[in-house]
Amino acid sequence: MNPRLLNDITHRLENDYGFKPDGEYLRKGECPSCHKREMYTSADEPWVIRCGRLNKCGAEYHVKELYPEIFTNWSERHPVTTEEPHAAADAYMRDGRGFDLAKVSGWYTQESYYSPELKLGSATVRFPLPGIGYWERIIDKPERFGKRKATFRGDYKGCWWSAPGLDLEADDVTELWIVEGIFDCIALLHHGITSVSALTCNNYPAKSLLALAQARQALGRKLPKLVWAMDTGKAGEDYTRKFVSRSREDGWESVAAQPPTGKLKLDWNELHQRNKLDSKMIEESLYRGSLLTAISAHEKALLMFNKTAWNTIYFGFESRLYWFEVNLEKYGKAMEVLVDSFKDLTDDERRERAMMESHTLREIANFLPTALYFQENKLTDEQWYFFRVDFPHSGESVKKALTPQQASKSVEFKSNIFCAPGAYYTANATQHDFMMKRWTEGIKVVEVLDSVGYSSTTQCYVFGDLAVKNGKLYTLNEEEYFEIGKMSIKLKARAVELNINSDLNQLSRDWIELLWQCYRYKGIAVLAFWLGSLFAKQIRKKHKSFPFLECVGEPGSGKSTLIEFLWSLCGRSDYEGFDPVKSSNAARARNFSQVSNLPIVLMEGDRTEEDRFKQRGFDWDELKPLFDGRSVYSRGIKNSGNETYEPTFDGALIISQNAEVKASPAMMERIVHIEFDKSSHTNETKDLADALRDVSMDDVSGFVLKATMAEKSIMETYIERQKHYYQHIRSLKGVRNGRVILNHSQLSAFVDCLACILPIGKRELEETHSFIEYIAVERQQALEEDHRIVQEFWETYEFLNGNDETPRLNHARKEELQIAINLNHFVAVASDFRQQIPELGELKKMLKTSRTHKFVGIKTVNSAINSAWNARRRNEGGDEKPATVKCWVFENPSPKK
Ligand SMILES: [Zn+2]
Repeated sequence: MNPRLLNDITHRLENDYGFKPDGEYLRKGECPSCHKREMYTSADEPWVIRCGRLNKCGAEYHVKELYPEIFTNWSERHPVTTEEPHAAADAYMRDGRGFDLAKVSGWYTQESYYSPELKLGSATVRFPLPGIGYWERIIDKPERFGKRKATFRGDYKGCWWSAPGLDLEADDVTELWIVEGIFDCIALLHHGITSVSALTCNNYPAKSLLALAQARQALGRKLPKLVWAMDTGKAGEDYTRKFVSRSREDGWESVAAQPPTGKLKLDWNELHQRNKLDSKMIEESLYRGSLLTAISAHEKALLMFNKTAWNTIYFGFESRLYWFEVNLEKYGKAMEVLVDSFKDLTDDERRERAMMESHTLREIANFLPTALYFQENKLTDEQWYFFRVDFPHSGESVKKALTPQQASKSVEFKSNIFCAPGAYYTANATQHDFMMKRWTEGIKVVEVLDSVGYSSTTQCYVFGDLAVKNGKLYTLNEEEYFEIGKMSIKLKARAVELNINSDLNQLSRDWIELLWQCYRYKGIAVLAFWLGSLFAKQIRKKHKSFPFLECVGEPGSGKSTLIEFLWSLCGRSDYEGFDPVKSSNAARARNFSQVSNLPIVLMEGDRTEEDRFKQRGFDWDELKPLFDGRSVYSRGIKNSGNETYEPTFDGALIISQNAEVKASPAMMERIVHIEFDKSSHTNETKDLADALRDVSMDDVSGFVLKATMAEKSIMETYIERQKHYYQHIRSLKGVRNGRVILNHSQLSAFVDCLACILPIGKRELEETHSFIEYIAVERQQALEEDHRIVQEFWETYEFLNGNDETPRLNHARKEELQIAINLNHFVAVASDFRQQIPELGELKKMLKTSRTHKFVGIKTVNSAINSAWNARRRNEGGDEKPATVKCWVFENPSPKK
């Protein structure tokens, strides 16, 4: 190993995994898989680290997997000099691919690639294709170029790449391996296997084969046997089969070979780098190739029996499931006869004949189930086996998650795996148990996440079929999960469907100007909140809370258009939010828990009379705990620890209403309040709003990726700026409430974070900051005043109660100290005097927050009014009123006076 690299890797292994030098080895490293300190590796060549617990764990990692960052920026680590014009390419071939430079030098050159669209460049390793052009591999952070990792120049159809100086016509070439990639080909060459690269899996090298055949015939030499060894996976396997039969038709002796599939999925180059490309591996690969190209279920069964000598074998052939069984008693008898009477047969021949007389082969399903992995939700302790089902007559496979109960019994399995008409499963209980055991032994485990958005255990954003971690974008693999470093994760269900355009080159910026023209600083403030909501969980971790945003405005004031547009930035279409008043507790709980680090919009739908009735059952105050991320509704699912699973609230709450939220001061101080109105609406703004509505989601949904990929810089900016705005808003005249200061400083910090990812002008930012100052002051004032309903109530009260000696509404005996009002009485008197009365339920809710006269409680009061009345009655005769009355009691005089 190159001394600098050796030094770097040894240092990291010692630091990160606690490896200790021990002679020729580094030992006592902590295994990333089983966490025992039994990892070891070579001290001079620490390419692969292995777990010493061979049977119990057996994990092994190439340092490339552990430290991808060392193996990605070749030009930076190995600058080109006049002495070393191919320094980066050489390092890539040696350290990145594990090749011996003495063997491969001169086969390639270092060149460069530039993408004009992305305005990005990289060094390449270029292999000439003589008479055609070249093939080159991008080597500096190739992920920046999306799907493009390599470039072809020239028409290579029908041709292969063969190593310069390799003599394919030589007499001793009896076998020729044809693989997909150049690096796979070079790997095999390192192990004395003559091979060429077809460059892509679907390129049948007809011209090169013909030329080789003619050249060898001219020399009077036999044709070599062809070994087709494309990559694993559907395409590679299909073409391997096709090319074997096509080349056989062309007169070649042809077989197939396959690199290992299943748990250890490595290509030829990776096998080489892990010292696994030995004769045993080659033999196994040829066996896998023979199974792949078997022409009947019978042939395949025979191959497997000969290899394993198992007397029961199940296998898939052409997307059907077969069961092969040898009757051991019959087999034994047949062998006895063969040993006695056919003395000239070899052992293999005897075994085969005896088997032919004693076996049964049955189709047990007319489809092929494959257990891909075990998926579990650690939080809720739910588990499933995830199956893929292939069908013989259709290309579409179906994927299905079965609980362990559904998978374990043949009857249950039969009824649950049924996913197509005419699909039959006839395995009996014994057969099913046997297969389940094999399917699930040491099966891969995938972690299931509950909610769309951010998962704090994995520190990863998952949006349906895209995921983001540490600034990198990941897509779902073929088996529908994300492989992110050592993690395998997926989403449980897509309760929230996001359609995000992952091509960030298509992310438009025009909408920012449009948003500004439509909504000015209010639009930018709401956008900043929206951006902040993508980091709500991280913010709550830092500051314990995340503000609620309230957008208030009459119908038509544009708040719905704004919110629907902001949703399209996250790939959610035709959606604004849900009406909490119309939802049951369970539905609200579901809505609150299905997303994380995404907004949750509560809106006012078209409410009917019945809804207005229900509204009395919904209290804004019940949402208070969401502010600091506590859940409102416990779901009571037991996990294995027997604790009730209490989901946290990880979203960001937005309330969009026609009228502002009426609630207690404790709720009000959690809210950032922005009002929308029609006062500035003109024909021109209407056109602009239409234009905003017409923005295509494909052009803007990349926003959510761009934002979450910039997590690091956004969080750094946030932390730095929030401190600044906290001090600033606290210094504003009249702003005292701690929550008001915190909420508005958080929002202001996110305005600055917007500038990290979007081109927003200085003036726009400044105007938005002044607006946020303004609403902070306004909120503080609102907290100090009574709610409009309460203010009106006291005005009506003053008017009705009168200033004379005989109070009409205050039942209190000591009226200079207390006000005691019976609300029914209040309503009766108010209607006598034709006074407006607010809805009683609403009034009761708000009166408790009264500041003009502080609410004391609901009490039974010895009524001064009734006592005066009764005194009069006793003189004049007539019905008396009860001495005591149930009253709402408030302090008097008011603290303000
Ligand atoms: Zn281990």
